[in-house]
Amino acid sequence: MSDDLIVFSKPYRTARELPNLEKVLSSGHVHGDGPFTKEASAHVSALVGGGITLLTTSCTHALDMASILSEIGPGDEVILPSFTFSSGATAIALRGARIVFADIDPLTGNTTAEIIEPLITERTKAISVVHYGGVGADIARIAELAASRGLLLIEDNAHGLGGSVDGRALGSFGDFATQSFHDTKNIQCGEGGALVVNSPQFAERAEIIREKGTNRARFLRGQVDKYTWVDVGSSYLPSELNAAVLASQLAEFAAIQARRFRVWDAYDANLREWAPSRGVSLMHIPVNSEHTAHMFYMLMPDHEEQGALLSHLRERDVVGTFHYGALDSNPAGLNHGHAPTPCVAARNFSERIVRLPLWAGMEDAQISRVIDAVTSYAGNDRISM
Ligand SMILES: *Cc1c(COP(=O)(O)O)cnc(C)c1O
Repeated sequence: MSDDLIVFSKPYRTARELPNLEKVLSSGHVHGDGPFTKEASAHVSALVGGGITLLTTSCTHALDMASILSEIGPGDEVILPSFTFSSGATAIALRGARIVFADIDPLTGNTTAEIIEPLITERTKAISVVHYGGVGADIARIAELAASRGLLLIEDNAHGLGGSVDGRALGSFGDFATQSFHDTKNIQCGEGGALVVNSPQFAERAEIIREKGTNRARFLRGQVDKYTWVDVGSSYLPSELNAAVLASQLAEFAAIQARRFRVWDAYDANLREWAPSRGVSLMHIPVNSEHTAHMFYMLMPDHEEQGALLSHLRERDVVGTFHYGALDSNPAGLNHGHAPTPCVAARNFSERIVRLPLWAGMEDAQISRVIDAVTSYAGNDRISM
């Protein structure tokens, strides 16, 4: 690996992470649900508009919990965008329910109320939505649709922490919202996540499912005099070591976001003129939307040019990447779900997207090098390889 290589993603180091870890190790309370879990959970709740936050070992596990709480099972259908990470799909398939894949708006990569509505049947139990790239989906209308049809709404907010639509926080619309603190996300603790419960009737059962099916959380609050096994569940809580790193990251949330926006804004400003000359579209941010600078992507004219630009960047020691293939045509997608209408836009999006390096620690010279590498791409026709 060259010293000059500009990697795609690099976790941000905070000032408090080592002192926090030392505190946990010397406190004797290393297992979950200690003071750092409390601190981090309160911070997440504040960022997502006030729901009850339960830290988990991953966003994938938070999605699993949302599925258990939604009581989806064999015979049920859940609507999910085809253009998303496998976690949203496995959470449905693991419960024996069927996935109904929804296509996306080709401008944003997000699904919409118009696309979802015709997919609702008498078997539909829930709708699962992603805010791709931290750009809010048509979430107020999707929430209205879900409520009017008696369906639960799961908001996969892995990219959307701190974002908003019409001034309302992403993660505040669903009955459940899920967060990821994987080290490729804006705020990270290696592996980690959170389930945000916005519908209070699910709060008590959520605590039980997270704690091996016991009412230990109520016991610790002194609400019952011993704890017992009361329900199904698993071990979804992270240790205090993860929570300590997470709390240190959240304490610097504003600074981390400002650093990411510096990169995002520089790409946007410097590629805006170049892009149309090559038939490239930059990421689209609707006017009512505050995004999160989780990623910066471009849509190339076609699949061939996606490969050509990625190779061109790699030759200049810049690591760009594509993203999800449309899940409806993946092997497990064919097994566990179906797309009533072919997800043509999802496939097209995944075949054209190029994401650029974006991390909080990027220096000016690195940002410029990425911009120069992109703008020196002269199109597929003139590439000599
Ligand atoms: C990263 C990601 C996940 C999975 O997060 P983990 O914390 O790694 O389980 C789920 N959904 C989306 C949209 C993601 O980007």
